[in-house]
Amino acid sequence: MSKQEERTESGVSRRSVLLSAGAAAGVLGIGGKQTLDSLTRDATSGSVDGLFDETQVLNTACAPNCRGKCPLNVHVRDGQIKFVEPQMTDDEQYRRGCLLGQSHVQRVYSPKRLKYPMVRSDWSPGDPNPGGRGEGAEFEQVSWDEALDYVAEEMLRVREEYGPESVFFHTGSGDNGMGTTIFGRLASMFGGTQQGWSIDSNVGMGFNRVTGHGYFLPPTNESEDWVNANTIIVWGSDLLASQFQNDASKVLDAMENGAKLVVVDPVYTTTAAKADLWLPIKPGKDTHLALAMINAVLTEGIYDAEFLRERTTAGALVRNDTEELLRMGDIEDSDDDRVVGVHSETGEPVPLEPDTYADVELFGQYEVDGIEATTGLTLLEDHVQQYSPETVADVAELDAEDIRTAARWLATRGPGGIASSYALGRYKYGHVFGQTYAILLALTGDYGKSGTIHAQHPLGASLSSGDYGSPEGAEGAQYLRMHEVPDALENGEPYPIKAIYGMESNMLVNQFPDRQRWMDLLENVDMFAMADIHRTPTVQHADILLPAAHWFEREDITDAWGSHPHISYRAKAHDPLWDARDDYYIINDLAEKLGYEDLFLDDKRGELEKIASNDDRFDFDELREKGNVRIDVDVVKYTDPFPTDTGRIEIYDEDQPVEEEGTVLDLPRPIEDRTAEDHELADEYPLMFMQKHSKWRIHSQWADNAMVRKMNPEPTLDVHPSDARERGIDEGDYVRVYNDRGEVVVRAEYNEGMQPGLINIDQGWWAEDFVEGSLQDLTHMEVNDLAPTFAFYDVRAEIEPAPDVDTSMYTDPESADWLGDYPSEGDAQ
Ligand code: SF4
Repeated sequence: MSKQEERTESGVSRRSVLLSAGAAAGVLGIGGKQTLDSLTRDATSGSVDGLFDETQVLNTACAPNCRGKCPLNVHVRDGQIKFVEPQMTDDEQYRRGCLLGQSHVQRVYSPKRLKYPMVRSDWSPGDPNPGGRGEGAEFEQVSWDEALDYVAEEMLRVREEYGPESVFFHTGSGDNGMGTTIFGRLASMFGGTQQGWSIDSNVGMGFNRVTGHGYFLPPTNESEDWVNANTIIVWGSDLLASQFQNDASKVLDAMENGAKLVVVDPVYTTTAAKADLWLPIKPGKDTHLALAMINAVLTEGIYDAEFLRERTTAGALVRNDTEELLRMGDIEDSDDDRVVGVHSETGEPVPLEPDTYADVELFGQYEVDGIEATTGLTLLEDHVQQYSPETVADVAELDAEDIRTAARWLATRGPGGIASSYALGRYKYGHVFGQTYAILLALTGDYGKSGTIHAQHPLGASLSSGDYGSPEGAEGAQYLRMHEVPDALENGEPYPIKAIYGMESNMLVNQFPDRQRWMDLLENVDMFAMADIHRTPTVQHADILLPAAHWFEREDITDAWGSHPHISYRAKAHDPLWDARDDYYIINDLAEKLGYEDLFLDDKRGELEKIASNDDRFDFDELREKGNVRIDVDVVKYTDPFPTDTGRIEIYDEDQPVEEEGTVLDLPRPIEDRTAEDHELADEYPLMFMQKHSKWRIHSQWADNAMVRKMNPEPTLDVHPSDARERGIDEGDYVRVYNDRGEVVVRAEYNEGMQPGLINIDQGWWAEDFVEGSLQDLTHMEVNDLAPTFAFYDVRAEIEPAPDVDTSMYTDPESADWLGDYPSEGDAQ
């Protein structure tokens, strides 16, 4: 065997890697070596001493991007993690943790972890040989020093040749510790490129046009307040299955308290099964439905007139000539830009101040100082005439009376709201839905009160790191949003990207749409380094592999953005296994090699203290002692004037934004891409393809978790029996799902919860888990103009039997990596 082969992970069985781990003792920290030794000990002959060792209970937190951010207790005995449980939170009602969080032991001791720094065998500086990347790539083990030398030298060379922005500091959402904050400080010092998001952000951006709030989903009341809601409309989310954390339990609490639950979803989900009213909407018709509900509220006169007068521009006049809002300056010949309403009693024009009740007419046409104008609410009322419940019921394949019932419950049962989800933002024009439901909630008065809801999870607590990310002397990072990165890679626009360092992300080669294109685009990069805990498809596609410590192997702070009002602390349970390292120390060493010796402290505790000192809502020592601390957040949102030009919710948008295909959005108008019946691909690819979140994983994390895989061993296609039978597909048959972009082969599962015409493969599966292809080979990168966001659900496809595929990867233990030699109960538990 050649030296190179000896150093190559390929062909080494999982068991032999574990058994030979002692050979790596020289590069392990003491704790890491002891842990590996104890993991590989024969359980039947092991000493019983360990049984009497003291069990330490350490604080940590789970923080993938499910937004749960659950504080956890880790029980450590004999140098090993034995048990994980939800930690008591400072505010006890937020104690939480799902079974995925409690299965972290399987992740920490997974033989599929990255173990040593490695470099692709056929990569070298100046000769990157990008064609050698991917599935068949082989890697050589190198020292940490060598690996980081390569990364630093390539970054410096690229900066010299192309400019600092040509180095991409890529991060995902794989962990919500301080890793990306620390990484951002280095990116800013270097002047590299960081990324803005083009995933799940368009609903919030549409909502923002109306309220001034929202980028991802808009803010909503903290979940402790949800029990006060009288109507909850869960729109496009299987919240009870994939938002495991307490948001789900709070919905059930509210129902016990008498709330009505409405679920809008094309799929009969776990959440739909609990609903008082389920609206099985046709995919892509959500804006139509919200407009029909506006129609019903206005037609039945069940709007909240007081709220509309106090906090919205419903009564503001819109000039008939210019289609702009009438301003005091228009009638007084001044520069007073306050918008104008007509006083209900005097008939005189009055200015509308932010958040101030004004007794103005809500409906009608008026002439003010010779200027003809119409109230915003009348324009809206006229506009929604075409979206009656009956009309929309036809379009969306719903029952008109059900639409009215949902609207009535929302408008007349007291505080409530719409728990909208990211699913709507996965249609190309999801931002119009955001605009529409923001207006609907204004009509029902559901802002700024206890019991009002605006999104499927609350805002939670975010740690404020102040100017930590902009150290003295920093160049400042450049930002490209995700959908802009391809042009930089392919055409050098606005500038070329030639080197990538990625962390906490499996997006580039697994989670981003149009996977094949990303792999092609990466061929333009000279150096691609990935730091990760596991050997994901993205890691396998890199040139330099940097094994990162699991969350339980490092000290850290996590905040709970999007979830609950606590900051949490992570204690280190034991040293990183094998030759893995805490991302902090990887970044610190890289900074030194780049010439930034003083950018970080050598001890991470001190650096965390420094970051924490920017947020005066908690004390770091108290945090370390307690594990988590509740910090002061606004439980009820939208109590201040809205950050719009008028300080009010702006029902009519005088900016008249125009979408790429010409639709003017002064008022919401449904726009559809591939869900449209007359789309050019509709005949050839008649099925809509979606990829819903799964209860078995968080995005692509846990995909290689042995415990989870035993229950959810292979990807499947959810298909309605009628669609399957029409194509000669029996339950359990393997099928080819294909479109104009690519294909994937999976086993078909009859699912009567899917409506005919709609198919699903749960997202997050790694490409290697499919017999052929990947679900992201079907998706595309087309985005809209106004709120560009990847449209993962706006995808058409067709299916056909795939009778002769080799499926032994799921059944043959030799081929089934995920069934392989994980530490047995005696070894690891
Ligand atoms: S996966 Fe999410 S819900 Fe489950 S324990 Fe972790 S943070 Fe909590």
